[in-house]
Amino acid sequence: MARRTKIYEGKAKILYEGPEPGTLVQYFKDDATAFNAEKKDIIDGKGVLNNRLSEFFMNGLNEIGVPTHFLKRINMREQLIRNCEIIPLEVIVRNFAAGTICKRLGLEEGMRLPRPIVEYCYKDDALGDPLVTEEHIAAFGWATQQDMDDILSLALRVNDFLSGLMLGVGIRLVDFKIEIGRVYDGDFQHLLVADEISPDSCRLWDIETGQKLDKDVFRRDLGSLTDAYTEVAQRLGVLAKNSPAASKPTLIS
Ligand code: 5GP
Repeated sequence: MARRTKIYEGKAKILYEGPEPGTLVQYFKDDATAFNAEKKDIIDGKGVLNNRLSEFFMNGLNEIGVPTHFLKRINMREQLIRNCEIIPLEVIVRNFAAGTICKRLGLEEGMRLPRPIVEYCYKDDALGDPLVTEEHIAAFGWATQQDMDDILSLALRVNDFLSGLMLGVGIRLVDFKIEIGRVYDGDFQHLLVADEISPDSCRLWDIETGQKLDKDVFRRDLGSLTDAYTEVAQRLGVLAKNSPAASKPTLIS
C-alpha cells in the first residue's frame, strides 16, 4: 500500500496531499486540546462529528455565496479541500461575552455585546495566539488593507449565517473562530473561509437552559463532549435523532 504525503499535522487535524493539484485531504483526529495544549485527551468520535458538522456549515456557506475551501466529504473522517495559503490570523467574532474577553475587559459571562465584535489573534502556539491589532497586521505584512476589509466582511457574513442557523435549533452562537485562506486564480487572488467550523471553534449555548454544547465542556470538565456535539448535530439534522454518538462501530449480529 502506498503511503500518502503528509503536508502538515496540527492539534486536531492532519493535511495530506490531495488527488489533484490544488487540493488537500483534511483528516479530523479525535485529539482534544485546550489551554494551548496544556490539557489533552483523545475523545472517541470527536473527529467524525467535526468532519460532518464542518461539512454542513461550509456547504451552507458555499450555497449562500460565501467562498470556503470545502469541496466534498470523502469519508467519516476526511474531506477534500482547496489548498490555500493560510493567513496567520485567528479571526474571532463575538456576540456575547465569554472566554478571554471577560478576563481582558472584566465583562460578565453571557452579557450581550453592543454589536458583534471582531478580534484578530496572531496564529503562533509558542506565543499562545496573542491578540493583535490591524496596526500589527499591516506593519508585519500578514494581510493588506484590502484583505482586512474582505476578512471583516467574510467574518460578519459567517456570523449572520451561523447565528441564524443556530437560532433555528434553539442554540445561541456566543462566539467563534475562523481562519482565512488565500487562493490564486491566474492573475487574481481571493480569500475564502478555511480550516474548520465546528463546536471545537465556537461557543454554543442552549437558549433555554444555557447548557454548553461546545469545547468548553472539555475545557471545564462539564460532561461528555461527544454527547454535546452529537446534540448539536442532531438538532441541525446532520445526524438522525436516534443515532448514537458517531464514534463506535456498531456490531451487526
Ligand atoms: P477565546 O478568545 O474566548 O478563548 O475564544 C473565542 C472563540 O474562539 C471561542 O469560540 C474559541 O473556541 C475560539 N478559539 C479561540 N482560539 C482558538 C483556537 O486556537 N482553536 C480553536 N479551535 N478555537 C479557538
